[in-house]
Amino acid sequence: MLERNRALSRLDGTMTSPLSIPYAEARRRVLAAARPGPVERVSVAAARGRALRTTLRAPDPLPSFDNPSMDGWAVRSADLARASAAAPTTLAVAGVIAAGGVPTRSLRAGEAMRIMTGALMPTGADAVIAFEDAGAPEPGGTQDAAERVRFTRPARERENVRPAGADLAAGAVALEAGRELSAHDVALLAALGHAEVPVGARPAVAILSAGDELVEPHEALRPGAIRDANTPQLAALLEECGCRVTLLRRLRDDPAAVAAAIREALAVADVVLTIGGVSAGDFDPVKQSLDSLQDIEHWRVAIRPGKPQAFGTPTGKLFFGLPGNPGSVACVFETLVRPALRKVQGFAVLDRPWLEVRAAVAIPSVVGRRDFVRAALGRREDGWWAEPAGPQVSGYFTPQSRAHALLVVPEEAGSLQPGDAARALLLRWPGETA
Ligand code: AMP
Ligand code: MG
Repeated sequence: MLERNRALSRLDGTMTSPLSIPYAEARRRVLAAARPGPVERVSVAAARGRALRTTLRAPDPLPSFDNPSMDGWAVRSADLARASAAAPTTLAVAGVIAAGGVPTRSLRAGEAMRIMTGALMPTGADAVIAFEDAGAPEPGGTQDAAERVRFTRPARERENVRPAGADLAAGAVALEAGRELSAHDVALLAALGHAEVPVGARPAVAILSAGDELVEPHEALRPGAIRDANTPQLAALLEECGCRVTLLRRLRDDPAAVAAAIREALAVADVVLTIGGVSAGDFDPVKQSLDSLQDIEHWRVAIRPGKPQAFGTPTGKLFFGLPGNPGSVACVFETLVRPALRKVQGFAVLDRPWLEVRAAVAIPSVVGRRDFVRAALGRREDGWWAEPAGPQVSGYFTPQSRAHALLVVPEEAGSLQPGDAARALLLRWPGETA
């Protein structure tokens, strides 16, 4: 397939003409190549954010026994059927049951037991009256007689009782395979006794950034130099989507050195990402090294930003050659890399959330290209509206930093007009400050 594409891309007579494909085709190919990777078992405490790989059921009912939702009096509702303010019913206090305690005997007719939230209900009791809804305990009539407590209304059957299995019945599905485990899912798993859970292993990712102009963020700028901002951006994005960055290298614009570094990275990582050097400039080393690397395709995806890219599965690993501009890195990551890395981990949902919005201003594009506009969102009475978060220059940082979302201008639309409906990939929620 790759050979055929390479041949096709050479049909116009130049060795350098890359394959041009629409976004949907690029995504289809990337996702076809990204197969779910290995499963590992992790402790439930470390499971947040991971992809659950097996559907988990409740081994036992949850809760596993009937228990009160309030501190109060365990009673037999039949005993209080005629209780009223005018004619209270008085029951003998027959004991106290703490959470974690086991009642020493069942509750008999005419009795109430003090019981704490979450404690095991005594057999015979079918309702709990909160302490505040009953009278204060009074001494019994004689020295030996039990304390007594007065009730001025009937108890509904199961009042203030959390019945066994009401939260989740034994055998019911607790969480589906493919789910991104939340802190609250962690609670559910722990409650069910799933102390270890099968999750997608975190892919090991290598980042190679190429550019003679690049220096480290802490370094002073010499003339012509810029700071390598994409490596930390990419590392942060990778960490956020569950990956481990296991190799970071900055490279000169030297095709042989870049090709060698890619080979070395492929030997130690599951996924290799390069930054920069993939377009048609005189010194673009990733592009120039592609001919010496098997199974990597140079392609031009009809998107903006982020058109020039490389992709492939050399030695069975995933390889993405990302363009160097920071906006392009962000866009290609969100639209192709993240979905692939999430699929590898076994997540059912591959993208960030989509939001239906309207364009607040006219947004120009061209037919045949899909634009991902770095957009600011605002809420109006009729829903969410989006406008560019600054000039859509892929080399600028602030529009990306200010953006809440990537607003899509689809291929078939030459532009969006004010009020047009569109979809936006939510990068961060536009928090409403107090
Ligand atoms: P390239 O894709 O190598 O032609 O780079 C396109 C633009 O992105 C150029 O202005 C580069 O200086 C810039 N660039 C490339 N790599 C990085 C990086 N790691 N951090 C910040 N800017 C970069
Ligand atoms: Mg470059």
